[in-house]
Amino acid sequence: MPRIYLDYNATTPLDPTVLEDVCDVLKNVSGNPSSLYEEGRSARILIEDSRQFVKSFLDAGSEDELIFTSSGTESINLAIVGYINRLMSVNKDRKLHIITSAVEHHAVLNTFQFLETQGIETTYIGINNFGELLMDDLLSSIKENTVLVSIMGANNETGTIFPLKNIVNEIKKINENIVVHSDVVQVIGKHFFSIKDTPVDMCSFSGHKFYAMKGNGALYIKKGIKIDPIIHGGHQERGYRGGTENTAGIVSLAKALEIVKNNAEENLKKINYLGSMFLDKLFSAVDNVRLNGHPVNRLKNTINISIDGIKAETLLFNLDLYGISASAGSACNAGALVKSHVLEAHGYDAARVQSAIRFSIGRWTTEDDIEYAVNAVKKSVLKLRSL
Ligand code: PLP
Repeated sequence: MPRIYLDYNATTPLDPTVLEDVCDVLKNVSGNPSSLYEEGRSARILIEDSRQFVKSFLDAGSEDELIFTSSGTESINLAIVGYINRLMSVNKDRKLHIITSAVEHHAVLNTFQFLETQGIETTYIGINNFGELLMDDLLSSIKENTVLVSIMGANNETGTIFPLKNIVNEIKKINENIVVHSDVVQVIGKHFFSIKDTPVDMCSFSGHKFYAMKGNGALYIKKGIKIDPIIHGGHQERGYRGGTENTAGIVSLAKALEIVKNNAEENLKKINYLGSMFLDKLFSAVDNVRLNGHPVNRLKNTINISIDGIKAETLLFNLDLYGISASAGSACNAGALVKSHVLEAHGYDAARVQSAIRFSIGRWTTEDDIEYAVNAVKKSVLKLRSL
């Protein structure tokens, strides 16, 4: 039986070309990048070349910073906690207020909750039934002491895209000193993104979402924004992050972005085509299916649906027997089927939330995979409904 991987939002397989570069680095570049002799210098060159490439991919300014980290989660923590710690170190009595959305990944939500325990005031902005951010609520929640807003670029569960450029512009009109951070973990590699076009102050992303090695992320920081490190140690990563760098991982991240860049248009076209095909076929094969999230403004690779009368875990179990890997709710919660805070925030009823499953397609998905998957959903649903 084939195995068909339809969970590219959870993670992506390593691209074979990236793997070749990684093997080359692991075999031939063994030095510590901080060492001054030849082996160290070779590693340092690879890291700095990777940094320049990633910065150019983002359209970042030459004096902007790009810090390599161990994950998207670490980048998000570094941005948010690092910025707040810096402000607190200047004036520890200042009462700070920060804003995010109710549908962020737990990497952001739990960082906000941690900061609440440190006395920081927080606001969570809701969404409407279509998954659109309540812009008026966001703008009216800005106060004199608001110092940071963190809003994701696209949602990992539904694929709904937030109008980040507009969000940044509207916030800056109210107070240009508010730092805007974005979790663009699901955007990079799937959708066009440029700092020039979308002038966020900081953004976080993660290599394993775009066919690089797991355990690698990066944080972009605009020139002039100061943050404190959250991992204390050596002076690596320009003093923003202690710890010997993961040279092979960093190379994998840059190489994976090079592949994304070189094939961006073609890949987007393919994913859009396959995503629409998936939805059309599913809607004609199975009745009482509902698409979750925004019907138009979404990553077309992400298909989050609820099928009336079918519990997500039962369907996923059946699909697994057919060789299909998909997920329910957020796969980043260690695969645990906890109720999705994202779907609940849409105001969906409990049955719709409980039946939601997410298929996410990617670079190696084919038309045959989709035919097979839709057929497997159809057969599983028929079976489950007949019980
Ligand atoms: N943010 C979003 C939107 C994600 O989808 C994920 C992972 O699924 C993360 C953050 C965390 O990234 P990482 O797994 O690299 O820590």
